[in-house]
Amino acid sequence: MSAFSTSPGTRDILAPDAARWRLFQEVFADVVEQAGYGYMIPPMFEDLGVFLRLGEATDVVTKEMYDFEDKGGRRVALRPEQTASVCRAFVQHRPTTPWKVWYAGPNFRYEKPQQGRYRQFDQVGIEVLGVEDPHLDAEVIALASQFYTRLGLTNVQLSINSLGDAGDRQRFADVLRIYFESHIDRLSEESRITLTKNPLRVLDSKRREDQAVIADAPRIRDYLSAQAGEHFAAVLAALDAQNITYTIDDRLVRGLDYYRRTTFEFVSTALTAAHTAIGGGGRYDGLVEELGGPATAGIGFALGLDRTLLACDAENVFPAPASRVFAFVVDTTGGLEAAKVCHELRSVGIGVDRAFDGRSMKAQMKAADRSGAMVSIIIGTNELEAGQVLIRPMNSGEQYMVERAQLLTAIRQEVINFQ
Ligand code: AMP
Repeated sequence: MSAFSTSPGTRDILAPDAARWRLFQEVFADVVEQAGYGYMIPPMFEDLGVFLRLGEATDVVTKEMYDFEDKGGRRVALRPEQTASVCRAFVQHRPTTPWKVWYAGPNFRYEKPQQGRYRQFDQVGIEVLGVEDPHLDAEVIALASQFYTRLGLTNVQLSINSLGDAGDRQRFADVLRIYFESHIDRLSEESRITLTKNPLRVLDSKRREDQAVIADAPRIRDYLSAQAGEHFAAVLAALDAQNITYTIDDRLVRGLDYYRRTTFEFVSTALTAAHTAIGGGGRYDGLVEELGGPATAGIGFALGLDRTLLACDAENVFPAPASRVFAFVVDTTGGLEAAKVCHELRSVGIGVDRAFDGRSMKAQMKAADRSGAMVSIIIGTNELEAGQVLIRPMNSGEQYMVERAQLLTAIRQEVINFQ
């Protein structure tokens, strides 16, 4: 019988990388919680209907959803993203507005797995419900940008666009449809199909044969209502005021159907693979209503953790955190002394590991090296009888003997030396 391994598009995240994932979420929490966002944990699966509201021209919904019937006969789906769940939660719990939340965790999309694209992938994100103010759009974008800076990323570019209000979007979609239909023979097969569902999404095509037609397509900026135009101008002014650089990208429509007004995307120029988008978001003023709630403005973003870490690797920033094991106990007297030392040091918050199974001095020293510890604490029969221990800083090799009773004081001093 062959052994099992992970399903396509899923991975085990092992140490030390898993600690890096956790740190990623902690840094994100730090950035957004100091701006007043509260942590929320939506369920990993929901009634399929919640996600169907994301739009029928969205691949995420039509092709990539992990949906199934549960044992109670309910149609459910693993969440492909979390914005819809946040909006469903808003309708269900009716919190006071503005409702500012953040989340982190895995999403599931049945995509073709490759570098930077997985079937289970993680996102961190924020959503704000109940605020129309364009300054909020700029705040949301600024927080994403601050987070990238905290990670140490410098090769991140922001693209921004306005899709106008529902009416503008519809008028623009009609104009686009006529335009693309008049050039249908120059469009790819896939784009012809997309055109029948949502002409805006044709702008999103990355296929080479579509690019010439897309380049000459009408521009949304010429179809914005006065209010949507003013809103967009105010967002840009607020970004300028915070020294956030951006490029206006008329072609930015983004994957999900529910976006209105401001949409934005962050791209890592350090990534060379096909998937350079590391995060994005926008306004979705109609989504809460779609889910049966009152007309409520909404805006947010989701940043892809997996891909952002690839960008960190490419820029050589945000490494996995160092081992938390400061000391390693090498005990050749049977291991009881190691147990006492570990307990003593751990209970005052000093990280310490040890070897088991009565291994040889040499094997234990090797384990100490591998552990990432800064010092080893060596206890042999002579030391035990004399009531002493040997301390060996791993980097210098200048070992010294201390009284057993002075061990804690000596290790505390070593902690200070290594700071
Ligand atoms: P979206 O929810 O589609 O707006 O995506 C937001 C971000 O999530 C993207 O910019 C990617 O960084 C990330 N992302 C989306 N789909 C995947 C995937 N299948 N694998 C890895 N990252 C993804």
